[in-house]
Amino acid sequence: MVGRHPATSGLHLTADERVLGKMKIMVAVKRVVDYAVKIRVKSDKSGVETSNIKMSMNPFCEIALEEALRIKESGLASEVIAVSMGPTQCVDTLRTGLAMGADRAIHVDAPATLYPLSVAKLLKALVDFEKPHLLILGKQAIDDDCNQTGQMVAGLLKWPQGTFASKVVLDKEKQVATVEREVDGGLETLCLDLPAVITTDLRLNQPRYATLPNIMKAKSKVIKKFTPEELNVQIKSDLELVQVTDPPKRKAGVIVSSVDELIDKLKNEAHVI
Ligand code: AMP
Repeated sequence: MVGRHPATSGLHLTADERVLGKMKIMVAVKRVVDYAVKIRVKSDKSGVETSNIKMSMNPFCEIALEEALRIKESGLASEVIAVSMGPTQCVDTLRTGLAMGADRAIHVDAPATLYPLSVAKLLKALVDFEKPHLLILGKQAIDDDCNQTGQMVAGLLKWPQGTFASKVVLDKEKQVATVEREVDGGLETLCLDLPAVITTDLRLNQPRYATLPNIMKAKSKVIKKFTPEELNVQIKSDLELVQVTDPPKRKAGVIVSSVDELIDKLKNEAHVI
């Protein structure tokens, strides 16, 4: 299936920019509890414990950054900017991004609990400021599992979106990104006019590790800082977090001795067949 999604607000490369490869890519990277940590709910049920817990870059954001770096390395872009919103510690996540190869970074100093619409508004403000030709995000953050920010920022920017990308091919001359995405019925291919928003799925690539020399080099790369006020974004939400609780404990399983017994249990105890 192929669909063409035109951009409704123009930000087109001039002929000179096309020749010089001056395409900018912005990548949103979120600091989350490391995927290998077994999370614990706080005793007051106000959220999950994050103090003294290993925090890392959201895995889907690593994939987003890797894709931007590969596009740059193929000569189709000249700059990759990593951006993150949240408390001061987000700078560590940005340093990781810089060590992976991002050219510079932007930190928006904001509260830890940010809902997708606030992040999307902040991202729109940064896009208006930096004017990238491509904005790449993870398809979802593994802490809130929202899977909303990319879609919301594309809506705010009125840019075409290719979500859950498993393959991205850029044509800088035509200013088109071809995005392959896995959908229920198979693969869907979208042709997006640039500028566009892309969100990354697991199979897009295998992110690189930062090497020691690059970690050292990253220390001198620039991280610009903004506050939401400086970006004219008001952080507020109509959502109220009532309580966070552990899921109910699963009952122990039963080993059945035959297929007949299994069928009997599924029919008469679980009532699922
Ligand atoms: P979500 O909609 O919360 O599942 O997040 C989807 C994607 O939006 C993430 O993979 C990031 O690329 C981006 N994102 C969400 N929150 C932040 C944040 N606080 N800072 C930077 N990027 C974010």
